[in-house]
Amino acid sequence: MVLRLEDHDRSRCRLTFEDGLLNTLDWLGLEPDRFPTASFREDPIAHPARQSNQSARYAAALAQLEAAGSVYPCTCSRKQIARVVDQSVGAEARYPGTCQTANHRAADTPARRVQMAPGGWMFDDLRLGPLVQEPAAQCGDLLARDRLGHWTYQFAVVVDDLAHAIDVVIRGEDLLTSTGRQLQLASMLARPEPPLYCHHPLLVHPDGRKLSKAGQDTSLLSLRAAGWTVPALIGQAAWRSGLLPTDRPVPFQAVVDRLLGAE
Ligand SMILES: [Zn+2]
Repeated sequence: MVLRLEDHDRSRCRLTFEDGLLNTLDWLGLEPDRFPTASFREDPIAHPARQSNQSARYAAALAQLEAAGSVYPCTCSRKQIARVVDQSVGAEARYPGTCQTANHRAADTPARRVQMAPGGWMFDDLRLGPLVQEPAAQCGDLLARDRLGHWTYQFAVVVDDLAHAIDVVIRGEDLLTSTGRQLQLASMLARPEPPLYCHHPLLVHPDGRKLSKAGQDTSLLSLRAAGWTVPALIGQAAWRSGLLPTDRPVPFQAVVDRLLGAE
């Protein structure tokens, strides 16, 4: 387990959210193997667990892809892209490749896109089973660094998963469509063995709305205050994620053993 602060969206990052995250990990007894919570608390700003401190790593990965001829500068604004993409309900905004043949100079913009070759990517989700996604058709060429010079989530997460040799990723179903493109990117960065993925369902309101911090919705610490024990919470989360057959209190190690058995 690796502690990672994905703080590329500066407008949404708050130190209090980070404190909440660390306190929750401590309560759950989930001590990261790399970057223990105590080490982060000692020096949170300069800590290597923070993605905003790892620009050199992402730049090196981008240089690797540039050397392979898979990267180009993109001067498109979001508005320009929105004007030309499919606006039908539920459709993902696919970058149409406008700048691929435009021959922009590197100095024109910090924004860089990585070319997604056509073709399907298969993976075996631990809950959902075998799935195929086609990044070139879904999202088109992937933004690695935006017009402000910020690394994107999609790019940074693949580079870090590779750097930290992450072998199991458990995350929400809202990120399911990202998996194919992340696998494709990992392959382009010469990752030999991709991670296993488990996409868990999201807890939502009865009308389907997402839970949110702003809406004072149930947080782990409020469940703790309501008397939930850690084994009960781990058991229910693992059961909802399809990692255990029944909803019953278990120690965290039981879930780890189950995952290792699946590898
Ligand atoms: Zn463009």
